[in-house]
Amino acid sequence: MNRNGEESPLILSVDDNEGARYAKTRTLKHAGYRVIEVASGYAAIDAAFEQRPDLILLDTKLPDLDGFEVCARIRANPITSKTLILQTSASFVGISDKIRALNGGADNYLVEPVESDELIANIRALLRLRRAEKDLSESQMRFQQIAENIDDVFWMYEPNSATPLYVSPAYEQLWERPSSKLLEDGLDWLLAVHKDDKELVSQAYAMFMAGDSYELEYRIQIRNGIWWVHDRGYVLQDAASNSHRLVRITQDINDRKRYEQSLQEADRRKDEFLATLAHELRNPLGPILNAVQMMKLAPSPERTEKGLAMVERQTRQLVNLVDDLLDIARITNGKISIKPQSVKLRDFINSAIEASQPLIEKRNHQLIVELPVDEVWMEGDPTRLAQIVLNLLNNAAKYTLRGGHIQLTATANSDEVTISVTDNGIGIPVEQRQRIFELFAQANHAPDRAQDGLGIGLSLVKTLVDMHGGSIYVMDADEGAGSRFDLVLPVSGTPHIEEENLAISSKTSVLPRKLLVVDDNFDAAEMLVQLLSNAGYEAQYAVDGVQAIELAQAFIPDVVLCDIGLPGMDGHEVARRMSLIPALQNTRLIALTGYGTSTSKFKSREAGFEAHLVKPSSLDEIQSLLRTTKSH
Ligand code: ADP
Repeated sequence: MNRNGEESPLILSVDDNEGARYAKTRTLKHAGYRVIEVASGYAAIDAAFEQRPDLILLDTKLPDLDGFEVCARIRANPITSKTLILQTSASFVGISDKIRALNGGADNYLVEPVESDELIANIRALLRLRRAEKDLSESQMRFQQIAENIDDVFWMYEPNSATPLYVSPAYEQLWERPSSKLLEDGLDWLLAVHKDDKELVSQAYAMFMAGDSYELEYRIQIRNGIWWVHDRGYVLQDAASNSHRLVRITQDINDRKRYEQSLQEADRRKDEFLATLAHELRNPLGPILNAVQMMKLAPSPERTEKGLAMVERQTRQLVNLVDDLLDIARITNGKISIKPQSVKLRDFINSAIEASQPLIEKRNHQLIVELPVDEVWMEGDPTRLAQIVLNLLNNAAKYTLRGGHIQLTATANSDEVTISVTDNGIGIPVEQRQRIFELFAQANHAPDRAQDGLGIGLSLVKTLVDMHGGSIYVMDADEGAGSRFDLVLPVSGTPHIEEENLAISSKTSVLPRKLLVVDDNFDAAEMLVQLLSNAGYEAQYAVDGVQAIELAQAFIPDVVLCDIGLPGMDGHEVARRMSLIPALQNTRLIALTGYGTSTSKFKSREAGFEAHLVKPSSLDEIQSLLRTTKSH
């Protein structure tokens, strides 16, 4: 063992001369080495293999194989090839022998007699060299292993050379560019740097090449979009403090950056929310305080009545605010739940309209409502459904200047109902449309800031809509200015009990659903179809008789609304032919004509029309006719 607790090096001493061997062993042991001895070439080869000595002290003249041959064989075996060999000789003393030995693989060649000091000094020098070599290759291996297994990109440069000596495999993954390209053109990586960061990064890189360290966060543009990296470059110095190598380490920090950004955004919104909340709470408190003071300082029955009314109004507003806050707290804690039951579309919409009335009236808006004629049944929580629609109506009222128009339209098919709330107010910029459904998010304020809120309403709406299995979209109002919110909710089958009632009543009357409009005036036909569809009917149109008959056979309408004065085949002929088609036996035919004379009515009845409407007829007239039972 040496002083460091390591085992001392093992020396294999090969010499057939016993005296010489003995002397060498003594010297070696004295110097602290462990020694094994052999006396022949073959024994040396075996011992080198089995004992793995650190160094072989090899005499050249041996009885079987000479030292040159032994050296060659030891080098030829991969297991022993790296063993140090110090060859000695008393008989081969020429310079050519030394050259031959060194070329044959010996690490040194000494001519006997060798002083013991010289021998030990030589052995030490060889062992030291081997140790340094081993350390170097181990550290190289460690470096390689680390560099190739970390996710960070490791770059190594020579000073003033833009092309790296080495870049780790993580480069290709992060940059999505081949490293072969980078090793040809050292600036290839810069091409992927985001254009807004390029100048800063190029400057830092130029200074780095000149020997300055840097640390930067910047973006690169890759297939998936923009990616954030952290890049650090520093200079490695050699023992004489010269710049020796430049090293860069680049780390993928995209996730962290995104979290940071969303935290900052959430933090900003929270601050904004607190400011708005303070403002919104203060708004009703001012008038309340004024009213109380007025009643206290100058009491009169009239003032008290006015004051109390104001206190009540403002307190209600406070209660609404606090209710919204509580709802949102429940949502964030996942505590809100819906109590589904069978509900009629008309019922919850009406209760929302009722609740929105005060604000709509206060702001002098006109509200137009169009609902499907037929009853639409849904599965949901009536209070929450009303709350959804009320929120949309209140927003429409808030974000529309006084005296505006608000329209609530509901249309249904067998799967879903679409409730649209449209206003002609300030509208929502396209880029804000996704955000407004997030908590505390606000877009534009109405110029009169009638009654802003807390940015809670739509987030609540969205959650409640999701809970009902529906979806909500925002878009421009059809007329351009203003917004439109489309709420799509699933429709359930008619509830059981009602189904029975319907079955009984259907014997006496079947309300029509499918309508075919026939009119050669394309605009008039299209307009009427539009009106009927809005009112919840499934309506189609044809612009001449032939097309009408063809379409009727495919569509099987409940009612045909047919113009009489058609080009080619007139309305009477259309009616006569339709009456003969078996599939249309239950189809009701109503004439639409510009002539209200009794002869024309008679003619149309004769042709098979059950009723006769004079153009222009209003949707109400048409609907009331459709509601009457079939008369033949
Ligand atoms: P708020 O309490 O601010 O009304 P909401 O969540 O109900 O909160 O709405 C979020 C934002 O969406 C509002 O601040 C407003 O900017 C915008 N917004 C909502 N509805 C409308 C609308 N009908 N017209 C214009 N902007 C609207």
